[in-house]
Amino acid sequence: LSEKLQNVFKNLRSKGRLTEADVKAAMKEVKRALLEADVNFKVVKSFIKTVQERAVGQDVLNGLNPGQMVIKIVKEEMEALMGSTMTEIALRPGNEITIIMMAGLQGAGKTTTCAKLAGQYKKKGKRPLLVACDVYRPAAIKQLQVNGEKVGVPVFTMGDKQNPVDIAKAGVEHAQKNGNNIVILDTAGRLHIDEDMMGELVAIKQNVDVYQTVLVVDAMTGQDAVNVAKEFNDKVAIDGIIVTKLDGDTRGGAALSIRAVTGKPILYVGMGEKLEDLQQFYPDRMTSRILGMGDVLSLIEKAESAIDEEQALKMTEKMKKASFDFNDFLEQMDQMKKMGGLSSLLSMIPGMGSKLQGIDIDDSMMDKTAAIIYSMTKEERANPKIINGSRKRRIAAGAGVPIAEVNRLCKQVQNQKQMMKQMSGMLGGRGGKKGGF
Ligand code: GDP
Ligand code: MG
Repeated sequence: LSEKLQNVFKNLRSKGRLTEADVKAAMKEVKRALLEADVNFKVVKSFIKTVQERAVGQDVLNGLNPGQMVIKIVKEEMEALMGSTMTEIALRPGNEITIIMMAGLQGAGKTTTCAKLAGQYKKKGKRPLLVACDVYRPAAIKQLQVNGEKVGVPVFTMGDKQNPVDIAKAGVEHAQKNGNNIVILDTAGRLHIDEDMMGELVAIKQNVDVYQTVLVVDAMTGQDAVNVAKEFNDKVAIDGIIVTKLDGDTRGGAALSIRAVTGKPILYVGMGEKLEDLQQFYPDRMTSRILGMGDVLSLIEKAESAIDEEQALKMTEKMKKASFDFNDFLEQMDQMKKMGGLSSLLSMIPGMGSKLQGIDIDDSMMDKTAAIIYSMTKEERANPKIINGSRKRRIAAGAGVPIAEVNRLCKQVQNQKQMMKQMSGMLGGRGGKKGGF
């Protein structure tokens, strides 16, 4: 996926302006990429539509080229879909007991996740209790006991001869007597959606005061996860979702679909079999993961924050007049510095990271250049043409560099000016959009 999307955006990046046809063509590729990532078809369709509607006809921000602008919109829409902020499992205030019921298909990771979660609550100073309500799988109770012990959380069991509702009730009573303030119910799954399973979960909810119902889904099941989530939400009503095995799922499309289809927040993600491998869910990170665009996204953010609109406007004016002097040069370098220097900028371009290895991009070059410009007089900076041989000698001495360096810089400013001339020709009447970096 990552490579695919990189190609899409590479193509977009190299184009000058964004027409409706450009957006459409790019979105076709994005669509294919998302489907390949196992994002639900309906979700993809509505997503593409939203982005298209927003992208066509929208002003391209200063400092962004049209391709980057599309990435920005794709990113924003995807984040909106994922939920814009990190969400916590809601707990009852004070010392009231919060009952959390875990639901999900067999093998989704309920038992493991119960223990992971209990371990995290314990670390936060809560007093959790695990309750073994899965009486169908012979090894399920033992598994919860073993995991509970590993994280140092007590496990309440009544063997496999009682029904899950009675166990849940007794578990809550046990918690009340023993001062536990969080009760986590590990329930039984089935291989497929099944009326018995749903009935059992509903019965538990009717008999104990479940505060949060958390659905556990396996990211590797892809498309199936969407149907599962929908069924559970319709029949049992869930409050949030934990997506497990994201360490194995290189795609992450399931997470996006589940969120879109149920409208319920993703709370945590399971990143491995070990009991510490449970992480808070950050929508923006998941967005980047699904888009897989290296750090293109942060490149955009940097550009947005650093480029001053006024400066960009001024630059456009200059471009139209095809003038470029050392003051402009300084300004340009200043903007680059704000964005983290040349090497950090380059390394964020997808595909560049690896190529940069072994090549030492010298950010101190910029400092040296600045030193030379600072050694010039006001007139020299504004009017590079007047810099003759004797002025060059003086500037070189002032900056403490060989005269060749000053020559190089003068040539560079001349080249830039030449480029401006050509660009202003291309800009015609419209003008205004600065290219990439
Ligand atoms: P349950 O049937 O829903 O209770 O699922 P289990 O908790 O027994 O987990 C099923 C399998 O998935 C076990 O082998 C777990 O170790 C594994 N598992 C659970 N969560 C994760 C995860 O986040 N990453 C990986 N790689 N494996 C997981
Ligand atoms: Mg289990």
